[in-house]
Amino acid sequence: MWFLLWWACASPLPDRYLILQPIDGEYTAAPLEIPSITDARRLEGSLGNAVHGGKLRVDLLEGLEGSESVVDGKPLQIGYTLDGDLGVATDPTGMMLWSFYAHLDGTKADLETRGYDTEPLFPVDIVFEPVISGYPFDYSNAAYSVEAGVFVLLPDAFDGVPYGANIGIVRHEFAHRWFEELTGGARHSYADERALQEGFADAYATLSLDDPTPFEASFNNDDRDVSGDAIADTLAIASSSPYAMGTVYASLAWDLREITDDPSATLDRWVAALNAWHSGTNAEEGAVAEFPNYFLSMYANEPSVLSEACILAAYRFPSEEFAACSPG
Ligand SMILES: [Zn+2]
Repeated sequence: MWFLLWWACASPLPDRYLILQPIDGEYTAAPLEIPSITDARRLEGSLGNAVHGGKLRVDLLEGLEGSESVVDGKPLQIGYTLDGDLGVATDPTGMMLWSFYAHLDGTKADLETRGYDTEPLFPVDIVFEPVISGYPFDYSNAAYSVEAGVFVLLPDAFDGVPYGANIGIVRHEFAHRWFEELTGGARHSYADERALQEGFADAYATLSLDDPTPFEASFNNDDRDVSGDAIADTLAIASSSPYAMGTVYASLAWDLREITDDPSATLDRWVAALNAWHSGTNAEEGAVAEFPNYFLSMYANEPSVLSEACILAAYRFPSEEFAACSPG
């Protein structure tokens, strides 16, 4: 009996974790190392620490944007057993939370492999199952709160792979944090910049995973398919949803991936275009319309790529004219 008590108090850290991960296109529970975790039960580590519960308060300003804050919360208690060096969560929620951390770890590694500085992006706290007061316009069951600077995970309410365990969703949500860092924060307070932020997040998820529909294991995303025919028609432009125009921006990025057959170089230019756009425009309504031109300008030295890209940009954005596409 003393042995059991000792075991319960001092569960050793697993070397590997049973988590949901895409293997040959199918989400499968399989072992993976998550070296950044320092406390498997509380979900704490170098990427950030989790809390359970607490209150996420959303205060709306001018009907659209708001401030958010998180208060209270207590440590998570993820139940698990050890099968040799393999940690096995005793319930699906625990596996989802570990999977989220593992995919966040993979996302950090992905950015570092691409040569981006992740140092300013971590740690970032994770809030599981907060009570949300105010208007929860942003929350399905995995989100990054730009205003509060935390990941918000909710218990799974849908069929399919839990949002927090979907690597495409984790990359999308993380890209919101990255966007804020690249643009110095605060630019998202314009409605049209929310659309660009969604487009940036979808472009990072789709290009880094080289998958035009990286969310489909969790939800039907036909209208977010970046290989589809999303265009900036009056319906998309007038939509109150930032995803309508966001998908158009991300689709132009995917067009370049198709033209060049090089998702990594496309992503590099997409990020460079965001930097150029950020320093070349003011944070004001309408500045987002200039973003595609900055992106097309990244191909100025590749005339054959640019001419194909300009044809597709004219299709995606029928009412815009792009200086990068004008001869001379
Ligand atoms: Zn988003």
